[in-house]
Amino acid sequence: MTTRKVNTLVIGSGAAGLAAALRLKTLGVHDLLLLTEGLRRGTSINTGSDKQTYYKLGIYGAEPDSPELLAQTFFDGGSVHGDTALVEAALSVRCFMNLVNLGVPFPCDCYGQYAGYKTDHDPKRRATSCGPYTSREMCLALIRAVRAAGVEIAEQRTVAELIRVGNRAAGAIAWNEECKAFETVFAENTVFAVGGPGGLYASSVYPAGHLGAIGLALKAGAEAQGLPESQFGLASTKFRWNVSGTYMQVLPRFLSTAADGRGDEREFLLDHFKDAGRMNSMIFLKGYQWPFDVRKVPDGSSMIDLLVHEETAVKGRRVFLDFRSNTGGLDFAQLSEEARVYLEKSGACFGTPLERLRKMNPGAIDLYRDHNIDLATEPLEIAVCAQHNNGGLAADIWYRSTTLDHFFPIGEVNGSHGVCRPGGSALNAGQVGAFRAAEYIANRCRTETLDLAAAEKAAELLLSSLRDRLHGNRDWRADRREFQQRMTRYGGHLRPVSQLRGAADEARRLVDEMYREGYPESDTLHAIANFQLAFAHWIYLEAIAFQADCGVGSRGSGAMLDEAGKPIPENPVYRGFVENIRYDGGSVHVGWVPCRPIPRPEGWFETVWEEYRNGSIYGAL
Ligand SMILES: Cc1cc2nc3c(=O)[nH]c(=O)nc-3n(C[C@H](O)[C@H](O)[C@H](O)COP(=O)(O)OP(=O)(O)OC[C@H]3O[C@@H](n4cnc5c(N)ncnc54)[C@H](O)[C@@H]3O)c2cc1C
Repeated sequence: MTTRKVNTLVIGSGAAGLAAALRLKTLGVHDLLLLTEGLRRGTSINTGSDKQTYYKLGIYGAEPDSPELLAQTFFDGGSVHGDTALVEAALSVRCFMNLVNLGVPFPCDCYGQYAGYKTDHDPKRRATSCGPYTSREMCLALIRAVRAAGVEIAEQRTVAELIRVGNRAAGAIAWNEECKAFETVFAENTVFAVGGPGGLYASSVYPAGHLGAIGLALKAGAEAQGLPESQFGLASTKFRWNVSGTYMQVLPRFLSTAADGRGDEREFLLDHFKDAGRMNSMIFLKGYQWPFDVRKVPDGSSMIDLLVHEETAVKGRRVFLDFRSNTGGLDFAQLSEEARVYLEKSGACFGTPLERLRKMNPGAIDLYRDHNIDLATEPLEIAVCAQHNNGGLAADIWYRSTTLDHFFPIGEVNGSHGVCRPGGSALNAGQVGAFRAAEYIANRCRTETLDLAAAEKAAELLLSSLRDRLHGNRDWRADRREFQQRMTRYGGHLRPVSQLRGAADEARRLVDEMYREGYPESDTLHAIANFQLAFAHWIYLEAIAFQADCGVGSRGSGAMLDEAGKPIPENPVYRGFVENIRYDGGSVHVGWVPCRPIPRPEGWFETVWEEYRNGSIYGAL
């Protein structure tokens, strides 16, 4: 088995991991390895949306903005730590301009000003975009830069275990898919950038190959926060893509059919809305109110998510968007003023949804054509899907894990967002985390403190347990189906409170069985994923069940349902607290901590300068 030792190991090459590797190299951390399933893997390079958003500090014209105002917006999402919010605001411009300078084509005007638009949960016009593939553009620019900087990259590696010695991280054991063998990388520092939990849900808009790996860190004892806070919304399933923005604003026809996808075709939204003008106005709003939001039911646009869910999950039917004809006897005069004016201004009060889409956003049609779906000849199947986890691993203002020393969770696997977040702030947070972790490592973690002999012993134990689990005969597909369906049924946008404890117990049972019985060696790659995903699904369900037991109620994208299936109202007190959860090798510890406030330091220049010069900005030695 190959074994090596580096100062810093970066796991994952999405927008966050790439940025961290580049920044580390720039800051002189040369003993560095970027280890990844592949440069073309993960969410950032494989996903996007109608207009994929990057959220940053407002820097256009005379509209005032400041780090503190932006931090306040992050903080207002609820269950957010104010100090992290301030960091993500303060580094926003620096990280954004870094991407601009690397060649990411964010649009500016002839004076060089970066214009913005309003996104969800955004009081100002701070959002920007390069079009449907913003995060891919970021990755492509970062990959060029990482290569030019000479960062060592190991692809086709899937981390199977994180090595822990005492209270610290010590590297990772990875499966090398090229050589079909395990290898060990010991590391003084581990930057963990494995993305969101894409493999957890049956209904998911994460790219099909992206599974995530938060379970590895949870099992190793890294504390998590805000795990129940995720985003769910309408997405196409044959090719996974959010049907947000113009896909909704052109007012497609919502059809449901029998399970065969053909028979018993119905415009099911009309049963609920009765009034076609109101129904079409709600469809329009769904364009920029994309995530399911408990505040937007029963009278708002999220009612559409519920009705789609009822057709698919409850009645076992299938739901499609049809762009070839208008819905419910469309009359533009009957639309809400907002929808009518928007369509009038866009010159789109005519024709079919497809003709309007061709006028307003032709690229949206090409996008599906590029994935072998022709909106002119076929309807588009959709479902309510998991899209993003606002929670994740817990860390301090330098993105150091709160329980595992020398371990830096960044990107989507870091849970800095709360109940809701402005659209686009995930990409900002990933870049900020990368900068901060790299800066901390470069300034504080270059010397070798790892007890290598102890790390080798820990790795041997992990490896032998892992190998034992690869002589079983469980069916990885059946297990994956089981935990994904459990997550969609109990941890999705609808959460039946009385059944959550049972779901968490069932999750634990599955984990025990899988670890006891194992999978065939020929399924090693799938087995590695299942072990950590199943572990994660147990911890997520524990976190959700605990939230329900505390009476937090419905909030964000998660509706807690009573016995009658009605959403339980939110107890807003909990917006002032963050839910922490940790596994200690035997049991789970879960509880609330009050949100740390937004710091408001005086900012006296001489003092800041001194603290910067003497390094006390990194905390006590
Ligand atoms: C449809 C959709 C639309 C979105 N739209 C927006 C938007 O408009 N604005 C916004 O801000 N955010 C958006 N997001 C969220 C955002 O895209 C992600 O949060 C972000 O791209 C995650 O970046 P990351 O670097 O953390 O992870 P990823 O890009 O997912 O990268 C993770 C990396 O880790 C690697 N990896 C994972 N597990 C292992 C393992 N075990 N071993 C080795 N390597 C591993 C992967 O291969 C990959 O290289 C959207 C997400 C989706 C799904």
